[in-house]
Amino acid sequence: MTRFTGRVAIVTGAGSGIGRATALRLASEGARVVLADWSEEGLLETASLLPSEAVHVERKLDVSDEDAVKALVSEVKEQFGQIDILVNNAGISGGSYPPVTENEKADWEKILGVNLIGAMLMIKHVAPHMQERQQGAIVNTASVAGIRSGAGGNPYSASKAGVINLTQTAACDLGGYNVRVNAVCPGLVETGMTKAVFDYARANEKEHKLGSRCELRRYGRPEELAAAICFLASDDASYITGQALPVDGGNTASL
Ligand code: NAD
Repeated sequence: MTRFTGRVAIVTGAGSGIGRATALRLASEGARVVLADWSEEGLLETASLLPSEAVHVERKLDVSDEDAVKALVSEVKEQFGQIDILVNNAGISGGSYPPVTENEKADWEKILGVNLIGAMLMIKHVAPHMQERQQGAIVNTASVAGIRSGAGGNPYSASKAGVINLTQTAACDLGGYNVRVNAVCPGLVETGMTKAVFDYARANEKEHKLGSRCELRRYGRPEELAAAICFLASDDASYITGQALPVDGGNTASL
């Protein structure tokens, strides 16, 4: 498969989970891939898994640092001359889910800073280049928690609702330049972010309960998210923009 031959893609959060699977899929379909993550260890591991013929670079990046984002984007433009695809996937959950009455302002600032403002910064600095070339595809990783949430997890859920809204507003801003912006909303997927949940469930013989509330009655795999992200990033989705696609085994089907 060569949907991405000749294309250059930046993937944030490429050092683990969904971002890693997406980078591998993009590379396996011919893209030159910029792996960006704040974990150097994760970057090296992802790079070691790429097909041997894949053209790639690894860059340590904090997506919430505008100067660093700006520098990365100009480096990529200089090195490759083009950016066709941006996968805005880096994210943090914060780890604990206290009720709103116990929320800390600093946690909100940190989580929104990475998940929402980080995504905005990447779009802000990549999109002008795409506008100039009159082509580009941006895919943001939101979450089903951004569609509807439960108790706790306020800053995470709010950040992901923000990512869905950012997807819509950016699609409106950029549609006239033939730049598409979409999002995926994963349900529960086994990754670094959810490791503690999976470890706990396995240690307590509750693995069968993971993902059991969704219609397919199982949790998702990073590769299943990568497939949806790559679809939205590809010309197969040439008439789709401003959409947030749940990839959740039907979790949101019965909302
Ligand atoms: P993960 O922890 O395996 O991967 C996230 C990656 O983002 C890590 O490699 C981490 O180092 C990187 N990262 C974190 N902060 C960063 C920053 N400031 N700058 C650059 N890189 C940073 O988790 P994942 O599940 O693969 O997460 C990918 C995306 O999917 C996230 O946006 C997450 O919110 C979203 N998501 C995950 C699930 C799930 O069940 N795993 C569900 C819904 C949404």
